[in-house]
Formats: sequence, structure tokens, C-alpha cells
Amino acid sequence: MHLVMIGGSDAGISAALRARELDSSADVTVVVADAYPNFSICGIPYYVSGEVTHWRNLAHRTVADLEATGMTLRLDTTARRIDVPGRKLHLTRPAGEDELIRYDKLVIGTGAVPVRPPIDGLDGRGALGPEDGVHVLHTMGDTFAVMRTIEEASPASAIIIGAGYVGLEMADALTARGLAVTQLEQLPEVLATVDAELGALVRAELAAQGVQVLTGTTARRISRASAGAAGRLRVEAVTAGATVERTADLVLVVTGVRPDTELAASAGARLGARGAIQVDPAMQTGLPDVLAAGDCVVTHHRLLGETYLPLGTTAHKQGRVAGENALGGRRRFVGSLGTQVVKIFDQAAARTGLRHDEAAAAGFDPLTIQSAANDHKAYYPGSHRITMRVTGDRRTGRLLGMQLFGHKHAEIAKRIDIAAAAIFNNMTVEAISDLDLSYTPPLGSPWEAVQMGAQAWDREVQSLRR
Ligand SMILES: Cc1cc2nc3c(=O)[nH]c(=O)nc-3n(C[C@H](O)[C@H](O)[C@H](O)COP(=O)(O)OP(=O)(O)OC[C@H]3O[C@@H](n4cnc5c(N)ncnc54)[C@H](O)[C@@H]3O)c2cc1C
Repeated sequence: MHLVMIGGSDAGISAALRARELDSSADVTVVVADAYPNFSICGIPYYVSGEVTHWRNLAHRTVADLEATGMTLRLDTTARRIDVPGRKLHLTRPAGEDELIRYDKLVIGTGAVPVRPPIDGLDGRGALGPEDGVHVLHTMGDTFAVMRTIEEASPASAIIIGAGYVGLEMADALTARGLAVTQLEQLPEVLATVDAELGALVRAELAAQGVQVLTGTTARRISRASAGAAGRLRVEAVTAGATVERTADLVLVVTGVRPDTELAASAGARLGARGAIQVDPAMQTGLPDVLAAGDCVVTHHRLLGETYLPLGTTAHKQGRVAGENALGGRRRFVGSLGTQVVKIFDQAAARTGLRHDEAAAAGFDPLTIQSAANDHKAYYPGSHRITMRVTGDRRTGRLLGMQLFGHKHAEIAKRIDIAAAAIFNNMTVEAISDLDLSYTPPLGSPWEAVQMGAQAWDREVQSLRR
């Protein structure tokens, strides 16, 4: 049995590890386009900031660790074409020669690539690139290019185009590096994955840390700045019909990702949401003996059905399912809730489930109530307020979503996980108060903050019914 995984990041490596774990005689080959298998690209901002002191420390496992599990790594090797009927994979080796390898089962984990928005000067003839200080950020190669600009050109300032979670993490990282950061976001508020009320709190934190934030501002053109300007690069943008211009020494374009599906699509795989590879819960593509997982595939959302939700947590789970099923297993990916958290300087924002507008669009009758509570008893030093937004269904009382914002030491991540577990198990908002959660004054309250948020929602529902 020869299993071949294409892609050496979260999905491909998870699949390979699971297969080797279940069957130590399985012949598992992982084909990786670059030389950085199993690197935590989620950690890139913390290497750029200097908190992670060497890029090698971003490896979840070293090449030696991976090989010790018994898998074969084919690094700097690109999969070019899948011959589905012949169960063969066409490769290009590091030195450029072609090679054909046979497989019994194939797992595609080609992931995602950065979206390149239509900005003059980013693509096409005369485009500016990493050597000019204009960057995207997804791979270790992109990271090295950013670090080269930082180390060789000593930039004093940066413009970040995009204020999603990667853009925010990079605003934090580049500020830590001493760069003056301007952040452009075309939407009305930063971090559109949470409601604008929490996005405004995120924006306030950015401003407090010295980041200049321009929302409702769409970048149109990147060019070289004229001599004597305050930076080497100029970004022209449009806001409310007017043109604004900013200059900086480094420009980072982080406006999301799209699934990398060329290989799968050319082999005949069906595509679904946002052009991602269609898979069933067993991660089967529908092509004989071909599975797929991670950022290149559609994601089953437990409340919404098919979506595209590229996240490292999901890629790990889907990869594990694909690895097991490639060996003939019957594992299912049971679905995501889009649970995520991001640290922005001294604060953190998190969400799980649905925001109000998503719940309404999905046919629920949502009510969202914002409230606040302390992370632990206020009389014990160092307590922080947590702002919560609880979304529940008025008809059934079911918890549909939760969003949290608060200090980075207020356990925002673990608190959102309470809500994620509750939604996963179809709990009502009211039932959250029944959960037996821990308490000691320096670390919590007799009513955990999330339970207080749930009670605020309940009170509002009761008063609306009166
Ligand atoms: C800066 C940053 C921060 C992030 N932070 C978080 C976070 O905090 N939490 C979270 O959940 N997620 C986070 N993510 C998202 C997370 O990293 C991705 O969801 C995850 O890496 C997806 O894994 P993947 O294996 O599906 O794809 P990718 O990581 O995109 O990897 C694809 C792999 O396929 C290889 N490949 C592609 N084409 C070929 C080919 N033809 N032949 C051979 N190999 C090929 C690539 O070299 C790579 O190894 C972050 C992403 C970035 C960029």
C-alpha cells in the first residue's frame, strides 16, 4: 500500500502521521514543493516580531522527527499532474527532472495561496515585488523575503493592506520591530470576522499602540515614491470617493487566501464553495482513490453546511481523517464552527459559531446581546473586563455564536472554547449556566464570565417575551 500526500503543511503531514500511526507498515510518501515541511506558518508573525528567535523554531517537527515516524519526505518536489486512472503522480524533482510515481491512495493537501487583489503595481508588467519591499505572506519563502527587507533595507515604516487576523498580527509584529505601521482596510471596520462593535475595540487597541488605521479605504496602486518622500513606496487608495496617498518603506498585502486547486481541478475533481475542492465527510474527492484535506477543500460547517473556512485547526483534523481513510478507515470530519482567536498587541478577540448577520442569513431568528464581565474577581489584583456578544436563536433558545474581546491574559481563547463546545453539542444559551465550571478568585468567578454573558442574553429574551 503506497500512500502519497501532496503538501507538507498541516493537512498533508497530519494525514501522513495518522497513516503511519495506524499502520507502521504503510509506505507513506509526502511530496512538498518547498524545503519546510510541517512548519507552523501560524507562527510567522511571532518570528517577524522577534519573539520567536529563529525560523527553525517554527517547525512543529524537524525533518528528522518526521522521518523517524517512517514517512518518506520528497522536499523541493512539485506535483504537476495526477493520472487518476493510472494512479500515477507526475513530479518535478529539485533539479528539474520529471519523475512518475505510483500510488494506491493519494491525499491532496495543496492548501491555499494569498489572494492578490487588483492593485496596480502588484502584478503584471513592471510590478513591484519582494526585492522592492512589496510582500505577501503565506510560506516560509515569503517570510524570508520579508525578513530580508527588514534586515537589509532597515525600513522605518510599513503599510499593511488588509486588516483581517493576519494583517492585525503583522501590525503587532512590525510595530514590535520598530516600524511605524499604517493599516488600510476596505471594509468599514477591522477584523470583519467579528461584529463591528468588537472590531471597533480592536481598532482602538491598534490606535493606542500607534498604528494608523484607515478603514473604508481600498488600495488601488503601489508604486515607487518620489525622491524625498517619507518612504520608498507609495500606496494610492480610495476612501469615500477621494484619493488618499501614503508612503512607507515596506508594503505587505494580506487580503486573505484562496484554495490552491489547480492540480485537483485538472485531474477532474469537482469544486465547491469559493472554488475549493468538493469533498464528502470522509474527505473523498469523488475521484477514485483520491482524498483531499485542508485549505484546498470546502469545509463542512455544523450550522451552515458547506463553506470555505481555511484554518490550521481544521486542516489538522481533516488531514487526520484523510490519512485514516486512505488506509481504508471510516472516519468522518464532523464539521467546523469557525472557532478562532487572534492576539492584537495586549488584547485578544475570538469568535465561534455565527455572527448575528450570518445567523439571520441562515434562517435563524437571532438575538445578539452584548455584555461585560470580569475575567476573575475584581478584588484580586489584575482583573480585566471581557466584552461578550452572545447570539442565540429566539425561537429555540439555541446558542448560535459567541464573540469575546479582552486582555490577552483574560483567557479569551479558552473561554471561547467553552462556547464552541456548547454549540458543538447543540446547547441552549440557558443551559450554559448549568455547566459546572471551575472557580477560584484569582482565576475566575463563581459565575464564569461566559455564563454571565449567557444570563444577560436570557434576561433580554425574558423581557422581550413579557
Ligand atoms: C501568517 C499566518 C497566520 C495564521 N494563523 C493561524 C492561526 O492562528 N490559527 C489557525 O487556525 N490558522 C492560522 N493560519 C492558517 C493556517 O496556517 C492554514 O489554515 C493551514 O496552514 C492550512 O494548512 P494546509 O496544509 O491545508 O495548507 P498550506 O499551509 O497552504 O500548505 C500547502 C502545502 O502544499 C504544498 N504544495 C502546494 N502545491 C504543491 C504541489 N503542486 N506539489 C507539492 N507540494 C505542493 C506547499 O508547499 C505546502 O507544503 C495562519 C496562516 C498564516 C499565513
